[in-house]
Amino acid sequence: MSSATISTPVSLAAPGRQHWKTVLADSFRDPYELLKYCGIDVSRVQLVSEHEFAFRVTRYFASLIEKGNAQDPLLLQVLPGTQELQRVEGYLQDAVGDIQFMRVPGLVHKYAGRVLLTLTGACAIHCRYCFRRHFPYGEARVGFDQGGQVMKYLAEHDDVNEVILSGGDPLMVSDGKLADLVASLNRIPHIKTLRIHSRLLSVLPERVTRDLVEVLQGFDGQVVMVTHINHPNEISERNQAAFQLLSKTGYRLFNQSVLLKRVNDSASTLVELSNRLFESHITPYYLHRLDKVQGAAHFDLPGRECARIYAQLRSRLPGYLLPAMVQDIPGQPAKTPAIGD
Ligand code: SF4
Repeated sequence: MSSATISTPVSLAAPGRQHWKTVLADSFRDPYELLKYCGIDVSRVQLVSEHEFAFRVTRYFASLIEKGNAQDPLLLQVLPGTQELQRVEGYLQDAVGDIQFMRVPGLVHKYAGRVLLTLTGACAIHCRYCFRRHFPYGEARVGFDQGGQVMKYLAEHDDVNEVILSGGDPLMVSDGKLADLVASLNRIPHIKTLRIHSRLLSVLPERVTRDLVEVLQGFDGQVVMVTHINHPNEISERNQAAFQLLSKTGYRLFNQSVLLKRVNDSASTLVELSNRLFESHITPYYLHRLDKVQGAAHFDLPGRECARIYAQLRSRLPGYLLPAMVQDIPGQPAKTPAIGD
């Protein structure tokens, strides 16, 4: 049984619509090409010539960048600046301590009741602040062998009732492979919830298709989708159509953001983001403090500044639009509320 049924045709399946993989293949792979497209003088921007963390931006995300603005908050999220080369004390390769909780390749069991699967290291855009920018995906990826170690682990752990698919982006995986995974999970009766964290939902709206919805409807339990949107400018009519489809299909949609210096570090921006999310059928869920990953220190904000912004946010938003500000502290049994240092 699916968690919901589509009663109306999928509005996104317009005639002539390109396959999402074709659209993805047309992404920007060269930051100078992106700057040219955005009408920004390259001499005003210092980029790393050879970046250890690859560059990629979808055409759709690029279309939302304000042309001629080198400080655009969407551009700053994806541009590999020379600050990435700074080695700052306290910023680590494995910022959240995932590796020590990897029980079998591609399965992290850190919190009670739920496990995280990394299906792929691929993403549609590469966010420069990503806490998994150094993650060893080569050896830490779920194999799609249905009788494999991951399913064995899940079958043996009946205290686990939620499987979380996370980044790399799980929706980079083909519908066929996702369908195989869903079928395997359906054979483990104590897995009740499938949670999908994906940046593709907002940066590549073509990924949300009738086929994808049908695959997810094959899951016997509840499906929860988590978007990753940091700034209100990341939302437009095109991805709102995708969110609406998922919402009408019956999936619960939540959003998590990261509080990022020069990107969304003002209460006004975050209030607007919550309101835009609400209009888009998405509940604001988490506002993360930056995970202290090597190469992303320039996005970090002092604890006092985070507390000041959050206090303003709390005074301006109704409770149901206020995301919880949290931090992922290695060794803690859950995300930790994060106010102040
Ligand atoms: S989409 Fe997610 S996993 Fe991929 S680079 Fe961005 S934050 Fe990291």
